[in-house]
Order: sequence, then C-alpha cells, then structure tokens
Amino acid sequence: MAQYTPMIQQYLRVKADYEDAFLFFRMGDFYEMFFDDAQKASQILEITLTSRDGGSRDRIPMCGVPYHSAKGYIERLIAAGHKVAICEQQEDPKQAKGVIKREVVQVITPGTMMEGAGIQEKENHYLASFEQSGNDYAVAAADLTTGECRTAVFHSFDSALHELAAYGVKEIIMNDTWDAEDVKKINDRFGAVISIEEKADEFEFDALLSKLTHALTRKASVRLYHYLHRTQKRNLDHLQPAEQYEIRDYMNIDYYSKRNLELTETIRSKGKKGSLLWLLDETKTSMGGRMLKQWIDRPLLNEKDINRRLGIVETFMASFFEREELREQLKEVYDLERLAGRVAFGNVNARDLVQLKKSLGQIPYLTDLLKKINGDDVQQLADKLDPCTELFGLLEGALIAEPPISVKEGGMITDGFDPQLDEYRDAARNGKQWIAELEKEEREKTGIRSLKIGYNRIFGYYIEVTKANLGLLEEGRYERKQTLANCERFVTPELKEKETLILEANDKMIELEYELFAQLREKVKDFIPRLQNLARTVSEIDVLQCFAAISESRRFVRPVFSTDRTMIIEEGRHPVVEKVMDAQLFVPNHCVMGPKRDMLLITGPNMSGKSTYMRQVALIAILAQIGCYVPADKAILPVFDQIFTRIGAADDLVSGQSTFMVEMLEAKHAIVNATDRSLILFDEIGRGTSTYDGMALAQAMIEYIHTNIQAKTLFSTHYHELTVLDQSLEHVQNVHVTAAEQEGKVVFLHKVKDGAADKSYGIHVAQLAGLPDTVITRADELLHSFESKEHKPEIINEGQLSFFKEEQVPKPALKEDKTIVSKLLSYDIMEMTPLEAMNTLYALQKSAKKPAN
Ligand code: ADP
Ligand code: MG
Repeated sequence: MAQYTPMIQQYLRVKADYEDAFLFFRMGDFYEMFFDDAQKASQILEITLTSRDGGSRDRIPMCGVPYHSAKGYIERLIAAGHKVAICEQQEDPKQAKGVIKREVVQVITPGTMMEGAGIQEKENHYLASFEQSGNDYAVAAADLTTGECRTAVFHSFDSALHELAAYGVKEIIMNDTWDAEDVKKINDRFGAVISIEEKADEFEFDALLSKLTHALTRKASVRLYHYLHRTQKRNLDHLQPAEQYEIRDYMNIDYYSKRNLELTETIRSKGKKGSLLWLLDETKTSMGGRMLKQWIDRPLLNEKDINRRLGIVETFMASFFEREELREQLKEVYDLERLAGRVAFGNVNARDLVQLKKSLGQIPYLTDLLKKINGDDVQQLADKLDPCTELFGLLEGALIAEPPISVKEGGMITDGFDPQLDEYRDAARNGKQWIAELEKEEREKTGIRSLKIGYNRIFGYYIEVTKANLGLLEEGRYERKQTLANCERFVTPELKEKETLILEANDKMIELEYELFAQLREKVKDFIPRLQNLARTVSEIDVLQCFAAISESRRFVRPVFSTDRTMIIEEGRHPVVEKVMDAQLFVPNHCVMGPKRDMLLITGPNMSGKSTYMRQVALIAILAQIGCYVPADKAILPVFDQIFTRIGAADDLVSGQSTFMVEMLEAKHAIVNATDRSLILFDEIGRGTSTYDGMALAQAMIEYIHTNIQAKTLFSTHYHELTVLDQSLEHVQNVHVTAAEQEGKVVFLHKVKDGAADKSYGIHVAQLAGLPDTVITRADELLHSFESKEHKPEIINEGQLSFFKEEQVPKPALKEDKTIVSKLLSYDIMEMTPLEAMNTLYALQKSAKKPAN
C-alpha cells in the first residue's frame, strides 16, 4: 500500500468497502476506474484502457467516462448485472489540502435503479429479500421507484421461489447463512443478482414495520430496508410501511401456470404483446398500468371484493359519455407514485413538479365526473380522491409554467414569489438596459457610430471599436483588453462597475433559485403519503375504467359465482386468440360442468383447438376473479382457489431440466396442492415419454384426481384408449373437438361436442401439410391393417390397466407386465420427490426391457 500515491491509497481504501461494485471514482470532469475494475469495465463498455503512474513499479490500469455522459455507461453496467458505486469529490479542489476528500454517495444496483432504460413505465421494478427459518420462508419485495413493499410467509422453498418469480425480481437480498446449494438454485432459476445484507435489527425502522405481525416478515422487510439505506445513503421518505399478505387470500397460480397461460408475457417472445395483459391494457396512466399487472398476478378469492369491482365496471359501462371523458382526463395525470419517489430521492426537477401540479389540477375534474355517475362504490372512489389543494396552491404560486430541466440555471421560480429574488432579477434585467444606454452614450461621446458593447465569457463586457476609428478615442480612459484582426476591445471603469453588478445579480439569482427550489422540494416531501394514497385511488379508477372499456369493445359479460362448484360457460371465447385472428372466425364453445361433473376428457385431432379451449376456460376464470367481465355469452363460475396447468411448453432451458421432467414436476405440483375448489388443466400429459408409460401415467393421474381431489379438470389427451374411462369414473365426461373431412381433406370446425372423437385425423393433417402422396397412401394402408387387428380396450377392475393388450406389448416384457403394473399402482406418487419418481420410472422401464424368463 505504502508504495502507492496518496490518491491511489484513498481509492483502495474506498474500494475495499465496495468489492462487489464498479467504483466510479470522481476526478474533475471524469469518473475513473482503476485496476481490475478498469480492465473489466473497458471491455464491457468498449472504452479505451489506459494506465497511469500510481507510485508503484507497474503502471496502474485505468479507464474513465465523462461525468456528463456517465448515465448511459452506468445503465449498461447495471443491465449486464453489475453494481456501480458512485464516489464523489466532497470538497472544492481549489481549497483542498492534500488529496481531495471523496465519498461514495450511492450504490446503484439492478434492483435499485430509479430511472433509465431499465425502468418500464407500466411495470414495477422489484427487488426482494429472502429469509429462512427452519421450514418457513419469507419474501419481502419492494419497488424503490414507487416505495411499495409487500411481504408474505411461505411454508416451502418452492412456493417462495414461485413468488419471487412472480415479482420478476431484479435482485435478491439475503444474509450469508444460506446453504450454498439453495443459493445456487436461486441463482440458476432467476439469474438475478444476489446481494448480501447482514444487518437486520429492527429498531431503526419501527414505523415501516407497523403492519407486520410475523417475525419472519419483519426480518425480511427490515433486511430490505437496511440494504436500501446502505446503498442509497439518503432519506427514503417515500418508502411505505410494508404490507403483509397471505398467499391464500389470492387465487394461487404458480409460476409455470402463469407462464403457460401467457398472463403477462408470451412464452415465445417473452414480450407483453400477445398476453392477457396486452389484451386488457387500456389503462391511461402508468400507475394504472402497473396496478393492472398486479391484479392479473393476484386474482381475488373474496366474492364480495370481486363483486365490488364487477359492480363498478358495470356502472362505468352504463355511463358511456362520462367514462369517455374520464379516460381523456386520466391521460393528463402523470405518474404520481414515481414522482413522489423522486421527490424523496432528491432527483426531481422543476419540470417534474410542474407535472405534479398539472396532475393535481386534474383531480377536481375527476371527482366531478365520478360524482355524475351513479353507484355507491363509485361515489366512494370519488370521495377518496384527495386533490392535495395546499400542495397545488404552493406549486402554482412558486413555479413558472415551463421551467428548464436543469435546476442550476435559474428560470424556475415565478416573479413575486420571493422579494430577494425579485431584486436580483431586477438588477439583472436592468443591467441590460444600463448597457444599452452606456453604448448610446459612448457613441455620442466618441462620435463612432459603429461602436458597440458586447460580452463574452472570458473577457466579460467590452467596448469594441474598429481599427479605423481608434484615433477618435479619448486618451487614458479606455483600457485595452483584446486585439482582433480589424478591431480592438476596451473596458472603462464605468463598464467594469456595471459588469460586476450584473454578473453578481445573475449568480445570486441562480443560487437563490436553487435554494428556493430545494425548499419547495422539502415541502413537497410532507405530502408524499397523501400523494401515494391519491396514486392508488387514481390507479384503481384507471384499471376499472379499463375493464369497462375492454368489456364493452370485446363484448364480455358479467360473470356470476356459484356456491355448488357449478361451472357453466356459454359461448366462451379465448380473448387473445380471438383478437389476434379476427373475431368473426373464432368459434365460441360451451363448457358445462355441473356440481357432479368434475372432469372433461378432451380428444380431437391435432390443431383442432383443444389447448385453446382449455386455456380459454382458465382465462375466463382469472378474468372473473380479477373483477373483469369475461368473453362469453353467459358465465356461472365457482370461485377457484388455485389454477394449475400442465401445457406443453418449451423446455425449461434455464434450469436445464428435460421436458418430461418439467412435465412431471408440474403435474406433481398440481396433484399435491389442488383442492376440490381448484381448476386443473392437463394438456396431453405423458406425451414426453413412450406411449405406454405416458398412457399409464395419464390414467393414474385421472383416477387420482377423480377420486382423491375432485378438482374441476380439463384433461386433453391423444390416447383414445383413455376415453373409456367415463364408464368407470362417475364424474368424467368425454368431449371432443370436431373436425370434418371435405373432399378427402380435414377441415377444423373448432367446435367442442359431447362424446369422444371417433377417429384420428393424423393422416389427413399430414396430407394437408403436403407430404408426398406415396407416404399418405402407405400410411392409409397401414392404418387399416392396424385397425383390423385392434381390440377394444377393456374396462378396468380396480388395480388393472385395460389397454395393455398382450399383442401390442413387445414380447420380451410380456410376463413382466402384471408385476410392472402392480408395482406402478403400489407407488405413492404423492410421497415421492421428482428425483425418486424419475428413478422409479427408470427402474420400471429397465425391468420392462429385460427379457422375461
Ligand atoms: P390443439 O391443441 O388441438 O392441437 P390448438 O388449440 O393449439 O389445437 O389450436 C390450433 C389452432 O386452431 C390455433 O392456433 C387457432 O388458430 C385455431 N383455433 C383453435 N381454437 C379455435 C376456435 N375456437 N376458433 C377458431 N380457431 C381456433
Ligand atoms: Mg394442443
């Protein structure tokens, strides 16, 4: 250390505290990086790596970015998953003795960004802390831009992970007592940055913990607050008290199912377009957009709460003109939540505050409009709108209409707001007048008509006289300042005096304006909680008007809830497919499941619309429970506690699991957690393995769900053999999606009808796809020969599978059959871990392959 220059020693001391971040070390107009940081950053940011002498034998690697363009570089490092510690000079270099004092003023991390390209208007930007105690886990998630914080307890690692995934966290805060294995799992799953925070003592944050009743949620929240304060190093007055919630207060949709149903993003592009959120998003404010996404992520369970939302939607639908007006007005309301956040953060400018003022100015109009609409719930919303009149008055009085972005150049505060400022302004304005008069005087005195007074930043004010006229100047009064090609510039004592006055006034004016602005900002801080409340109400109004708009334009109906588990959907539609394809062509379908009909076994050729049908039922249930109308002519639905899906999706590449393993994991998740109030969608389960394997698993699952769970289940299958199950399982009903042959070709009718599909259309689909005629003809021949050999599957006695006809099973495994089946049936799948299931399956298959003796 001693070998380094004092400045490099200072650098190394600071860096030691920020090992996990790039240290941006401010030197004049640049942020410099040294050593490893410089080497890495120069690569990531594609900037030149240089070196400097730092007292040591070897030169020190160095790179830097200009202060004024640092923002973009910081964003790029953050986007690449890094952190940046901003170290500023803390004293005036001219006054410093020795090395300038420097200090880290903020650490910017993927989860704590406040602005920039990484922040989406209509999306929250979450970071979360993750806490563990025995078998209990807590997650606390906060959005620093809005100040929200929510926390809940989970009783398994898996469900906590699902919640973290649902938040889409960018950064996870943990202490370092976690098991390395678990940390790796978290890391693999999310690729989110993991940050360590050791501090979790509570006393500093009492007020923020007031609503928390569970020791673990307190711990998770407090760790998060510590981390935010440690990295942001400032008052974070906008942080709201953490809200504790129970996962069982909301319809539970696990991460896989959310993805499968494409609720907020599509599977393929990971974008919003094509998702349910995309279809629904007619919100007019950014905060409404964020609330909509939160609602979709958490459908309600309480029927009263659901009906309250539906009631407001109904009222809005009946008030077309007021609603249209409301939409226009909402457009004028800016992002109050994030504005409040930036006020607390201290990076709000005068323009932001003018936006705040304008938004507040809209509120009385919103209230008036809502008052014109009937309905108690709407009136309550109207009453909750707090226009923050004092704040509006304050901003209106203080700020001019179009201030500049910079807060350090003046021009923000109105005339008449502050007497001292008015005086400086007068001097500055009058100064121009004085100069004009002086110029006139000088012209008259010297008789030089081309004489003029000008200004530049280096020489200040000067009198300019062309070379030809120099002789006319009075000796001794004019002091030469600058000589140019054909003129000379002078100052006089009088001009100097005016100059001092004007420049001082200007400087003081700018300084005072900044001070006044900072005071104003402080005053706005007092309103943060009220602004946040207002933001919530405006968001709610926005989402509900959005539901009304969508429900009207897309012809949705208000759902009704049943208490006896009846589900009747008449002419239901898949809202997104319908929107994408052309509403005219979409074929609506019923879904009728009385209290006793628990499972629909859906058959039909590929591409006939099985998956679409199943998804549409789930989407209708979700829409109903977020309080929106649903795409159908009529809908009676149970309130579902959970939705599970197993829908063939792409491999889970991130976690490196095979399709079949993911399939089994998802199936297990459903079978273990579903209740008779749940909805299960199993789409062609068993497809990822060999036919018999798959069919056996499918049937075992059907039986189990039917007998032990009784959840409403839509089960599509390409195993036609399974369609006999309706004869032995009371609550199972066959339906099929129809297709017709026209002139030897398949036409999909997309219509769901009772009964099983009678024939596979695979060959015709192949024909449709343009496979050579020879292949088609040969396949036809083969099909006929298979069919003639086929035996109708028998119906099971308990404990026996019907479709294992001896002729169809490969000879060697023949005698093993019964033992394999009985083994299979003896397993308690519920008690198995996925790995055990995999191993068992492997062993089963192995014994099946073994020649019998
Ligand atoms: P399956 O699961 O039976 O193979 P999909 O549900 O994937 O079939 O549907 C295949 C295609 O058929 C969809 O992409 C869609 O374009 C169309 N489709 C499905 N259902 C309908 C419907 N009810 N009305 C019109 N077109 C539909
Ligand atoms: Mg399908």
